[in-house]
Amino acid sequence: MSKKRILILGGGFAGVYCAKELEKLARNDAGLQVSLVSRENFFVFTPMLPQVVSGMIESNHVVVPVRQILKRTQFYEADVRRLDVKNKKVAIGVAGESGPERVLEYDQLVVSLGGDTNFAKMPYIQGFVFTLKNLKDALVLRNHVIDMLERADIEGDIENRQKLLTFVVVGGGLSGAETAGELASFFDEAVKYYPNVRNGLAAVPVRVVLLQSRDRILPELDLELADFTLNELVKSGVEVRLNSRVVDVTADHVEIMDGKGRTTLPANTTIWTAGVSPNPVVFEIPGAMHESGRLPVDSFLRVKGADGIWAIGDCAYIADGRSAPCPPTAQHAIREAQVAAQNILLSMQCKGMKRFDYDSNKQMAVIGEKKAIARFAGFKLYGIAAWWLWRAVYLQKLPMLKKRLRVLFDWTIDMFFDRDLTHIRGLKDDRKVARSLPARTQ
Ligand SMILES: Cc1cc2nc3c(=O)[nH]c(=O)nc-3n(C[C@H](O)[C@H](O)[C@H](O)COP(=O)(O)OP(=O)(O)OC[C@H]3O[C@@H](n4cnc5c(N)ncnc54)[C@H](O)[C@@H]3O)c2cc1C
Repeated sequence: MSKKRILILGGGFAGVYCAKELEKLARNDAGLQVSLVSRENFFVFTPMLPQVVSGMIESNHVVVPVRQILKRTQFYEADVRRLDVKNKKVAIGVAGESGPERVLEYDQLVVSLGGDTNFAKMPYIQGFVFTLKNLKDALVLRNHVIDMLERADIEGDIENRQKLLTFVVVGGGLSGAETAGELASFFDEAVKYYPNVRNGLAAVPVRVVLLQSRDRILPELDLELADFTLNELVKSGVEVRLNSRVVDVTADHVEIMDGKGRTTLPANTTIWTAGVSPNPVVFEIPGAMHESGRLPVDSFLRVKGADGIWAIGDCAYIADGRSAPCPPTAQHAIREAQVAAQNILLSMQCKGMKRFDYDSNKQMAVIGEKKAIARFAGFKLYGIAAWWLWRAVYLQKLPMLKKRLRVLFDWTIDMFFDRDLTHIRGLKDDRKVARSLPARTQ
């Protein structure tokens, strides 16, 4: 008898945790073949990326090789190129290359490809902004931030120095707020090593500006927790500008539209964390794509109108009869992954499936040095207590004991020593590559 094939696309929170759950539940089922395709051979623990940027955690410690997490899953480091839903086939090829393809067949397909960064209909800005989605982004951004401090330290012109020392974060969601908070706490500590930045003849402040197009930050979370975060960010020196929409970015300024009209903010660094656009691969799945660009699923996490296809994580639109969809967070992606794995096996055994009921009661975010917010088991926690809880929960979710110990060690060292300020010259910055994108038309 041929094996039943479950194919998972994407090696992020949703894909990896789904495969992990399948390995656990079908431990003794020799008739099942689980495969996973992802363009990197490692899983990135994204909630800790801002701490890589600030130098609190070593970059290698927040990534775990997929093959070492999933010992019974067939792993392919490859790009998913095309889906042939009718014939239940997926074409894959070596990541980042256009060479030969290999075709994988499946009985059940799990789509967990996350989303792409949304440049709000301004593709040309990609040449000027940093993103923070993966390990390389974090390394490049960290190096750039230190480069800006080094340049500012020798810059004689005050205006240029201010541009070098202005760091704009676009997007007030989890990644934007956490990045702004981490940067502020990093500068707090780092400037003492840059005498001309700290108290040169014409000292200018290091500015971290968080731009959010809506009237609140952290739309993924409870309003009270979001307001607390906003106050804490402001207290730590972050300039938070609500109702401020970015309309253009260049190498040395950001154009903003707010209640006062169009204004220009001179800055050499813009970090884009706003919005998620659909992964282009998911357009090949039939059925109505939701306007958010995510795949609508039923309460069992099956893609509506597609046979044998499941969607989980940031690429799934899970409304579950509620007015607001399940927020795109790692915590939800893990729970969706576990329920999807159970339902796939139940459906294959023709048994009743489990409804995915998302629990908005568990929410957490870290805002910088010893500050976090959390909603847990009906309680709301703020400040240092939430920060300890965040660390305990996320540490336990990081796959592999070795990595957990390393992160724990990094956190401990950070309590007693200053962060590393090594600047690597010549590290490839993808923004320069992106400058070959379509030119602005306005
Ligand atoms: C900086 C940052 C901080 C965050 N902080 C938090 C937090 O504190 N708490 C929280 O709950 N959430 C947080 N999030 C959100 C969280 O990371 C996401 O919700 C979560 O990663 C979603 O998981 P996913 O598996 O759906 O997508 P992803 O983790 O994005 O994984 C998608 C996977 O698909 C792969 N892939 C994509 N396209 C292809 C292709 N064509 N071929 C092959 N592989 C492909 C990618 O390489 C990746 O491995 C944060 C996100 C960021 C970026």
